[in-house]
Amino acid sequence: MKPLLTRRQSLLLGGSALSLFCCCPPGRAEPHRYELTPKKLTDGVWVTRGSDEAINERNGGAIANVAILDSSEGAILIDTGPSRRFGEALMTLAKELTGKPIARVYLTHFHPDHMFGNQAFDPAKLAATKGTIDGMKEYGNAFSDSMYRAAGDWMRGTELVLPQAVVEGAPEDIGNRRLRPLLMRGHTPSDLALFDEKTGILFAGDLVFLDRAPTTPHADIERWRMSLANLSAIPSAMIVPGHGPVESSVRGVEQTSRWLETISHMIGDAFERGLDISEAITLPLPDWTKSIALARYEYERSVMHLYPQFEAARWPRIDERG
Ligand SMILES: [Zn+2]
Repeated sequence: MKPLLTRRQSLLLGGSALSLFCCCPPGRAEPHRYELTPKKLTDGVWVTRGSDEAINERNGGAIANVAILDSSEGAILIDTGPSRRFGEALMTLAKELTGKPIARVYLTHFHPDHMFGNQAFDPAKLAATKGTIDGMKEYGNAFSDSMYRAAGDWMRGTELVLPQAVVEGAPEDIGNRRLRPLLMRGHTPSDLALFDEKTGILFAGDLVFLDRAPTTPHADIERWRMSLANLSAIPSAMIVPGHGPVESSVRGVEQTSRWLETISHMIGDAFERGLDISEAITLPLPDWTKSIALARYEYERSVMHLYPQFEAARWPRIDERG
């Protein structure tokens, strides 16, 4: 016997029936909501962990770690996440945890998963290095396009907001908390790590990844490894990586350095052997990388970023040949 309605017809009917009871205007779904779960590291310091995935429509771009610190002057945040909606959820959470308004918001670097939540905050309270602000100006529109493509509706209403305060090398005193800014580079041309003198916690931003493969679209591998050597010399009680779990060890620093050494060696070797980019992408990764989330995915992306750099550096320009 023939069904009374085709599957498509019943879906359409179901949809219109649903819209009768839905408070949303027709054609507009309920906006996505970020569920932020703070993890307390010690008194007055929390982290919300990002998902160890690439940016997608399920996670809404919430892949980076964000820190909240209490101070006698108000809440201090480190990074603002991927979207306006994330920034708003973060502000609410920070006020709940500390019972105070927002005193200061630091941005570790210009990548979109760390700074598109800025819109929720007073720009005068947003602080970053000059290099990060320059990077946001240069890449902000392109990042916005790619975030809307990758994360979809989570980004609705998100716009670029530039910080008004510039972080230089001097200690930052906010109420009873003193943060030492460490101006470095390598992951991007300007990376900010922050050391909290009260707790000994090092907030490393994306200079450190742990159990999640590092991203390299703006990386200078040599510089990055030098920055990691400097970070490993700091006697920190805990390290908060930009991506991955918080640990009271230098495992993240060592693993990031080992990853960078491994991929730059593999890609450089492939180039020297005359492999083309599609052959370099298929090379097997060493066994120790198997436990690292997104290892294959980020290796392939790194080949795409780094192969042109090798070509530019090692092939003489045609107009320079004798
Ligand atoms: Zn990141």
